[in-house]
Amino acid sequence: MSTDGLTFDIRLKDEPTPAAERERILANPGWGTHFTDHMITIRYKEGKGWHDARLEPYGPIPMDPASQVFHYSQELFEGLKAYRQADGTVTTFRPHANAARMNRSAKRMAMPDIPEQLFVDALDLLVRTDEAWVPTREGHSLYLRPNMFATTRALGVNRPADEYLFVVIASPSGDYYAKGIKPVSVWLSRDFTRAAPGGTGEAKTGGNYAASFAGQAQAVANGCDQVVWLDALEHRWVEEVGSMNLVFVYGSGPDARLLTPALTGTLLPGITRDSMLTLAPDLGIPVEEGKISIDDWQTGCESGEITEVFGCGTAAVISPVGHVKGDDREWSIGDGDPGPTSMRLRNELIGIQYGTRPDPYSWVHHIK
Ligand SMILES: *Cc1c(COP(=O)(O)O)cnc(C)c1O
Repeated sequence: MSTDGLTFDIRLKDEPTPAAERERILANPGWGTHFTDHMITIRYKEGKGWHDARLEPYGPIPMDPASQVFHYSQELFEGLKAYRQADGTVTTFRPHANAARMNRSAKRMAMPDIPEQLFVDALDLLVRTDEAWVPTREGHSLYLRPNMFATTRALGVNRPADEYLFVVIASPSGDYYAKGIKPVSVWLSRDFTRAAPGGTGEAKTGGNYAASFAGQAQAVANGCDQVVWLDALEHRWVEEVGSMNLVFVYGSGPDARLLTPALTGTLLPGITRDSMLTLAPDLGIPVEEGKISIDDWQTGCESGEITEVFGCGTAAVISPVGHVKGDDREWSIGDGDPGPTSMRLRNELIGIQYGTRPDPYSWVHHIK
């Protein structure tokens, strides 16, 4: 198969997972622990560009222990899903947006660009090959995880690597809310920050996650599900929740409007967030990108002005926030049930993704 001047060398697995075993996994896939039979690998070398594109059996990648990524974390990733449509075909959602974001991350991490079409073709090839792994159950999907990392064998720290590996793996995923949607509790982290101005907050790079685990652990230690990231300078302005963007709903019914923290460089520009910003106005829900402090959040909830708050991202789509806790304050949002505006937006987006609603934005990408 040839794409963007590159031909994929197709090496199918000799003994693919037997259908019965695959069905057993798909009956209860969990999240991110089972993988399909194949993966994509494409190599990059400075001067030579992208080369050696393969579809090959999923498995370990031999790595030199001096590979740059192990020492200096030159790495980035993406995340999106393939959806089984009612007619049996398979689609992905805005894959070109993921490709574009990957290249923005690459720029920040001093890594090479990958041609957008090559990125999308690589995903399509993997999904087509492992199509039997795309779940048919409602709310299930095949999670796709592209990533890229530095493979140059060198401990020198004064320049980026000159060799990289791009990999795509795929993991069947269950319904995030199999037991029903339950609002999460969140912890306002003042001891830890996820991202600082000039840092890598807007790049989807593993280092941001490495830096977040201590804050997440602190949230759990305080009885909360997720951590809220505040700005690095004043620990006052709300940025994200866990690995999701945040949206605040003001008012209700026909008067509902949305506010989401503006992209300042320290927030990850979510594609779900962007989709909400496009979708909501067409549903008659005005949206605004701005600044919101923890004081505004608390007083807004206490006065009843803020009616719903949710996190949004590819994995959960929308995750309502029900309770907020910090070292000096605590308050609740709503009555413990997911709010109507959150659920309406969620159903609209999921409807487009699974093809049960029209797609006026041409977001749906058909895998042929
Ligand atoms: C990936 C990610 C998001 C959500 O992005 P989507 O494209 O909507 O999945 C939000 N915040 C962080 C920190 C992320 O890594």
